[in-house]
Amino acid sequence: SSATKSSAVAHRVTAKGNNVPEAVDSFEAMDGIPSRIMANLKTSGYKEPTSVQASCVPILLQGRDLAAISPTGTGKTLAYLLPIFSKLVAPAASQSVDAGVGVRAVVVVPTRELAHQIHNECLKLAQGRKWKIVLFSKATANSLSQKGARDKVDIIISTPLRLVAALQEGIIELNNVRHLVLDEADRMLDSEFMSQIEEIVASCTRADVQKMLFSATLPAGAEKIAMAMLQDPVRIVVGLKDT
Ligand code: ADP
Ligand code: MG
Repeated sequence: SSATKSSAVAHRVTAKGNNVPEAVDSFEAMDGIPSRIMANLKTSGYKEPTSVQASCVPILLQGRDLAAISPTGTGKTLAYLLPIFSKLVAPAASQSVDAGVGVRAVVVVPTRELAHQIHNECLKLAQGRKWKIVLFSKATANSLSQKGARDKVDIIISTPLRLVAALQEGIIELNNVRHLVLDEADRMLDSEFMSQIEEIVASCTRADVQKMLFSATLPAGAEKIAMAMLQDPVRIVVGLKDT
């Protein structure tokens, strides 16, 4: 029972879902990006959103679950990092309103190398404030374990195996996670990573956790699993429509 509509914004974008927010083709016109984050976009040389960003950022800023399929190199990383930073507003450690303890956002990717790249993108948006962004590794897991799982961590970027190991060792908890991203989802769903992904999703226990999947492709098997994982999702396809 979902409505289909095609965006007219100069790109071939197909959006599917209930009450899909409109694409917005400038960062300035996007509702809810704090001025510091906006300034960091400019400093990083990001002048205009790519098509996946124009369509996905407004959806994510409204807190919706999302599955987005867009070719490699189209800027999927910023499409989810920009709304996450915007929704978190400021580092948890600096907020007067109690942001709670523990991890507030998690990005799961299939490889260490990708985790590194995403961490670098995070640092661009984080400029000027003391965001606690953790590229998860054995070393960072050990340092978290010494301080206990009660630290205020804004964003963790991890591979599925590393994150599940930390969960099983009791080094971290995900019960304060508000945003969960599965990037390159096609390589993790319907694959040998599936049981780890299930454990990670189940560990994010907040009822209002926003789940999002990004991928260059999403084969039927993975898509079915993805859609079952999301609540009232929007599905965005950029470029060639998958068949
Ligand atoms: P994908 O995950 O879709 O493969 P990436 O997120 O890795 O794409 O982005 C690809 C490249 O495009 C990166 O070098 C990134 O810095 C750049 N990029 C992303 N968004 C923009 C933008 N709005 N304007 C200019 N460059 C951008
Ligand atoms: Mg990517």
